Amino acid sequence: MAATLPAALVEEIRARLGRRARAAEPLARHTSYRIGGPAELLVVPDSADDLADVLRAADAHAARVTLLGGGSNVLVGDGGIPGIVVKLGRGFGRVDWTETTDGASARAGAAVQLGRLARAAAERGLAGLEFAEGIPGTVGGALFMNAGAYGGDVARAVAVVEGLGRDGTPRRLAASSLAFGYRRTELPAGFVVTAVGFRLRRDDPVRVRGRMAEARARRLAAQPHGQPNGGSVFKNPAGDHAGRLIEAAGLKGARAGRARISERHANFIVNEGGARAADVKALMDVAQRVVWERSGVWLEPELRLVGTW
Ligand SMILES: Cc1cc2nc3c(=O)[nH]c(=O)nc-3n(C[C@H](O)[C@H](O)[C@H](O)COP(=O)(O)OP(=O)(O)OC[C@H]3O[C@@H](n4cnc5c(N)ncnc54)[C@H](O)[C@@H]3O)c2cc1C
Repeated sequence: MAATLPAALVEEIRARLGRRARAAEPLARHTSYRIGGPAELLVVPDSADDLADVLRAADAHAARVTLLGGGSNVLVGDGGIPGIVVKLGRGFGRVDWTETTDGASARAGAAVQLGRLARAAAERGLAGLEFAEGIPGTVGGALFMNAGAYGGDVARAVAVVEGLGRDGTPRRLAASSLAFGYRRTELPAGFVVTAVGFRLRRDDPVRVRGRMAEARARRLAAQPHGQPNGGSVFKNPAGDHAGRLIEAAGLKGARAGRARISERHANFIVNEGGARAADVKALMDVAQRVVWERSGVWLEPELRLVGTW
């Protein structure tokens, strides 16, 4: 990959973060697809101060910054990601609980696994995150994507979002100021989520756990497992399902290189081992074109395509 970062910037970040700044780090190690070329510079800050320094330095050099959470909703190009890739470290993995009269609030660091947070809430008899059972990835990624399933989504439980602006300035955003939509949130450009405050309501722990078990069972019955993937590839168009349209187009089981449209659920493309991003992208292009020809619906990707192709 051609270097895009000035040597002085790389040195400055390395001096601050040491081994938590790694040049040419293969991103296939950091995505659920197990696909992706290298990050020009992967940085894993462990504190808000480190993160702010990285953002300030990047901003001063007009360097490109890409955020990576758990890598479960991204398809990273085979050419990798130029510039700085930020993945929040363990210092952003804390959850603080505060009891309220009718429930509790949970302030979760952006690197907390969403599923773990949902299970911890269930153990405390707190409702609002049951839908998240089985959704991989982090709280930061889930907030950015407004992750959801089975009628629930993150937006309904968020009270406040903490983070840093593009230039490293701390900001707090009330949930009411964020325009949540279907699998999207309107955050200020370059905003890095560092923590999310959730408002959860008290309920019978048995009932909360029951709803989570139900979500788990539905997921297990419908989705592929055992092969790396990135979840739903396309958003569901209004009033229909992307999987149904792709299946009706006769594309279940279609292959490109080592990638395949799942036999189990046509809105999943799985990596059969050694797939390239270009293989997944080729199948996405075919699905969009054939579904358009057959049904007149243009499927919009839910998967975020990043980096160089
Ligand atoms: C098997 C499987 C099942 C899935 N099922 C579902 C499902 O039922 N419902 C659903 O909604 N999704 C589902 N997904 C997709 C994915 O898990 C969610 O979108 C998840 O919330 C992404 O979180 P992540 O941390 O992995 O984010 P990533 O994939 O790393 O990033 C997603 C986006 O968020 C941005 N981002 C990440 N962290 C931050 C941050 N701290 N600040 C600002 N921006 C950030 C990234 O830049 C990127 O644009 C599934 C995925 C898989 C592999």
